[in-house]
Amino acid sequence: MGSGNLYVHFPFCRRKCSYCALYSRAGASAEELGAYVRSLVPHVRGKYATAYFGGGTPALCDLKEIAGAIEADEFTVELHPLDADADLLSMLADAGVNRISMGVQSLDDRTLEAMGRGYTASFAAKAFSLVRSRFENAGVDFIVGYPGDPGTDLGVLREWGARHCSAYTLQNERGLKGVASDEEILDKMKSAAAELEAAGLVRYEISNFALPGFECRHNMAVWRGEDYIGIGEGACGRVGLVRTRNAGTSKFTSETLTPERDAVERAIFSLRTRMGLDTERFPQWRKSLDGFAAEGLLVRERARYCLTTRGMEVCDSILAAIV
Ligand code: SF4
Repeated sequence: MGSGNLYVHFPFCRRKCSYCALYSRAGASAEELGAYVRSLVPHVRGKYATAYFGGGTPALCDLKEIAGAIEADEFTVELHPLDADADLLSMLADAGVNRISMGVQSLDDRTLEAMGRGYTASFAAKAFSLVRSRFENAGVDFIVGYPGDPGTDLGVLREWGARHCSAYTLQNERGLKGVASDEEILDKMKSAAAELEAAGLVRYEISNFALPGFECRHNMAVWRGEDYIGIGEGACGRVGLVRTRNAGTSKFTSETLTPERDAVERAIFSLRTRMGLDTERFPQWRKSLDGFAAEGLLVRERARYCLTTRGMEVCDSILAAIV
């Protein structure tokens, strides 16, 4: 059993999707990809409780050596549907990867084209089926509220055999035109949540749903406030009170929080999950939280407050009122 949590960022993509504000870039050469991975291997070698390869598009790099340098109880790799290839999946499984998260984003072909994703919905379904033939623990990501996306019943994920689904509302950091109002996006998220729950996926965090036992242990560890090491350009990390961010080779920054700020940050993460917020350290928040509980947005059990389904829809307003 390993300990600690590792996140490795691969900041490369085939091309930039229309909505994406993540730290990634298109157009890296094969030499650049190879040099990048080789430079990371010595820094990641070890045994961990969880490891997570995110991006970007990790599989644009040759992952064999770097994945082989890591042992982890839960080892996740994010996969683009265009990367789902039998040889790659076998290599990942042989290297100890045991969880795949595939960014599907929409099941509407016109929306996928507008996003610049480079595949159709039926292609994504086949790609996921291939993933599931090798990995028991596999899930998908969707974006809720992309302009013009008519939406599709996410209950179809039961047929896909998805164990996990992350459904993120569009943040529109790239200034897309024709974006729906906050209310419309909220309505779409409500429908998506109901469809996923009807398919048996339990909402264990505002944007995350899983069959029982298939919650992402890496993300749960991060939300619980456990330490995690962030390696690679664009990666963030947390060790004790220190937060690190690597914004490129010459731009490594770190910040040390006060114990009070650290406690507030952990409380905020906790409220977003089914664990709820323990107010033992924050008795001053209880009056406001009791008000939200009276409105049916929270349930209280002694000093702990958990969001109800309605509360999940307005979590940001609740946090804004107390922090
Ligand atoms: S593939 Fe993922 S990380 Fe890359 S641009 Fe698209 S959404 Fe962003």
